[in-house]
Amino acid sequence: MTFEETGLKPELLSAISEMGFQQPTPIQEKTIPHLLQADNDLIALAQTGTGKTAAFGLPLLHNVDLKSKSVQALVLCPTRELCLQISRDLESFSKNLKGSKNIAVYGGTDISKQIRELRSGGQIVVGTPGRVNDLIRRNVLNVGDIRWLVLDEADEMLTMGFKEELDAILANTPSTKQTLLFSATMPAEIAEMSKKYLHNPDELSVGKRNQGSDNVEHHYYLVHAKDKYQTLKRIADNYPDCYAIVFCRTRMETRDVAEKLMADGYNADALHGDLSQAQRDQVMVRFRNKNLQMLVATDVAARGLDVNELTHAINYSLPDDPEVYIHRSGRTGRAGKKGISVSIVNLRETGKIRQIENVSQKRFERKMVPGGEEICEVQLMHLIDRVVQTEVDDKRINPYMQAIKDKFGDLNSDEILKRFVSVEFNRFIEYYRNAPDLNVKEKEPRGRASRGERGGDRVNFSRLFINAGKKQNLNASRLLGMINENLRKKNIEIGKIDIQRKFSFFEIDSRFEADLIKSMNRASIDGYSVKVDRVSGEGPAGFQRSRGRKKDFGNNSFHKKKQR
Ligand code: ADP
Ligand code: MG
Repeated sequence: MTFEETGLKPELLSAISEMGFQQPTPIQEKTIPHLLQADNDLIALAQTGTGKTAAFGLPLLHNVDLKSKSVQALVLCPTRELCLQISRDLESFSKNLKGSKNIAVYGGTDISKQIRELRSGGQIVVGTPGRVNDLIRRNVLNVGDIRWLVLDEADEMLTMGFKEELDAILANTPSTKQTLLFSATMPAEIAEMSKKYLHNPDELSVGKRNQGSDNVEHHYYLVHAKDKYQTLKRIADNYPDCYAIVFCRTRMETRDVAEKLMADGYNADALHGDLSQAQRDQVMVRFRNKNLQMLVATDVAARGLDVNELTHAINYSLPDDPEVYIHRSGRTGRAGKKGISVSIVNLRETGKIRQIENVSQKRFERKMVPGGEEICEVQLMHLIDRVVQTEVDDKRINPYMQAIKDKFGDLNSDEILKRFVSVEFNRFIEYYRNAPDLNVKEKEPRGRASRGERGGDRVNFSRLFINAGKKQNLNASRLLGMINENLRKKNIEIGKIDIQRKFSFFEIDSRFEADLIKSMNRASIDGYSVKVDRVSGEGPAGFQRSRGRKKDFGNNSFHKKKQR
């Protein structure tokens, strides 16, 4: 199928042809005709990099009434970055379409500019759920007449705690609209959501569902939690030519691991939500150009990155959802090449390995963390390979040859070789001298492992008060969503949450207290202005301070949400 055959407007065809799109991707081939011809809903299961933006963007631009400036389509996506990316893509697709206007709205930034833009009108609004909901409450954004709703990266939106926001937004949209739901994974919550909101949807999936590529080997290393970083280094040293994404759970972990790798001289950098757009772009360019060997990233950050030809996908921390693992590992083993998906797990995580094996029908192979000698040998051979492959510029080097020979004096060629190699190699020998065995026996008493692990997690919590509670429809997940939305720039540990009728308390990592108070005081819930303040002294009965490790509050899945 060609783009011409889809029946898209010539203005769109000329724009994408200038962008170098020659042929629709599989998801575009299915989605574009569907949106041009049918009016039932659509669920599409598709991985990163399959061209989803054009799959919904082109037909939306084709369909909207350009003579009207009222909002006709709403696109919801999980992060500011994806929001901007989609908006920029729509801008490029529509550059030859007169009168077309799309507006990006997202949290963590001044709302008044977005309000002005909305007041002057546009056919398509692209936004993050929290900000969109806020703008609806303020009566600035009217979604009551939209004809299309797109939920992009729906699974990630749920993971980030936006369920309440999505429910609230969808309640404001007309039942006549056409809804498109895109997701890389299909957890139960998405199935539930589509049952609730989608009518008679067509389902399509690009790439096999629930299964990774056959070209990928799945390896795991079993170590103590405290040895994870050392293990990562050994793996990196053992594969000197690796080109890998190192997946972490939280931004804090991402930053930590990347900073340590850089300090230890590895060609690595981090990609996470704390970076500015310019910084992220820069990191992505370096990684795409292979000037960067290891990219340490959260799942959300890595989603915006269309690099798939990795030699290794490294799970520094395993995700809770097996499908997220399959998605990660699918970034390697492409185009007929072999890929390796590596997981560094501690004893408590071995259950996850079994779970992933069940879902994916792939077997994991336990690998032993290489010891010093093994790594030194790999590095030595790597060094020799580099020496052999080095091009020699005879013209330049010849003039020095006599002087060089004089300096070597009586050394024979064997001795010269040894010394040359040792210049680089000594560093490794020295580093790995007496390197301990990091491998853990499969069946070690559980108690010891888990005790060791908690030590590293200590966070000092501050207790905060918020003047909203059940009466304002606040609940723990919504509160997390608000924090995500308003403080996108910081990764914060959340402790206990206690929702009362008209007010609530919650704990956050004290280091972020001031920032959080400041930004939350600008937020609102359904138009109700929020006040947040520090609690001094003891709180109400029943609310105990949790010290040190994180505590569960009711449904402990809330904690997992914030951790990503
Ligand atoms: P997804 O949202 O599925 O992760 P994107 O929509 O961001 O994927 O597209 C990934 C990349 O592929 C982008 O750089 C985009 O410009 C490019 N792309 C999309 N469709 C095509 C096409 N038909 N031909 C060539 N490149 C395409
Ligand atoms: Mg996308």
